[in-house]
Amino acid sequence: MARYTGPVCKLCRREGTKLFLKGSKCYTEKCPVDRRSYPPGQHGPAQARRRKQSDYALQLREKQKVKRIYGLIEGQFRNLFEAAAKREGVTGANLLVGLETRLDNVIFRLGLAPSRSAARQLVRHRHVQVNGEIVDIPSFRVRPGHEISLKASSREIAPVEASLAARTRPQLVEWLTLDEKNRVARVVRDPTRDDISADIQEQLIVELYSK
Ligand code: SF4
Repeated sequence: MARYTGPVCKLCRREGTKLFLKGSKCYTEKCPVDRRSYPPGQHGPAQARRRKQSDYALQLREKQKVKRIYGLIEGQFRNLFEAAAKREGVTGANLLVGLETRLDNVIFRLGLAPSRSAARQLVRHRHVQVNGEIVDIPSFRVRPGHEISLKASSREIAPVEASLAARTRPQLVEWLTLDEKNRVARVVRDPTRDDISADIQEQLIVELYSK
């Protein structure tokens, strides 16, 4: 299945919540979720009026929500889930840690890009280095001790400058450190479940994929 390239606000409306897929623009533009709080499409208002969702629908929507927050397609998400299930520990938490430690997500968390899709572009366009080597694979998994930096000619490019200066920049997470002047970050430790948004009910995703 190809990556979704349509209007991202539709995805937020489909999930009935703000996923902040447009980065800082989500704070400066009128958000369609506030204006039309029902799913997109002809039958959207009718769907919103339906009172109860089945367990399957709840599980599916949670999976779609998380997949869309991190900008993954189904195959990538499923592979990540299967890898999480094979690791020791709680599968749901492993899945979230796997998502958080993707290189594109780390670039976003560091504030070097305003959204995960912009971060993915920075990685793909070969601006990002891990331990001094260019890595252009957004799904690359960072590990404790990795040093993440921008290559010398990319340290002051306009999108990075704008992202670091944005008032809406997210707070730096505890498992990463950033030397903002030199654009060098370090992974201090693996994230834990407590470092990741409490809005996600990963157990629903585990139930969905365990059917
Ligand atoms: Fe989602 Fe941002 Fe669009 Fe609102 S403005 S619907 S949060 S992408």
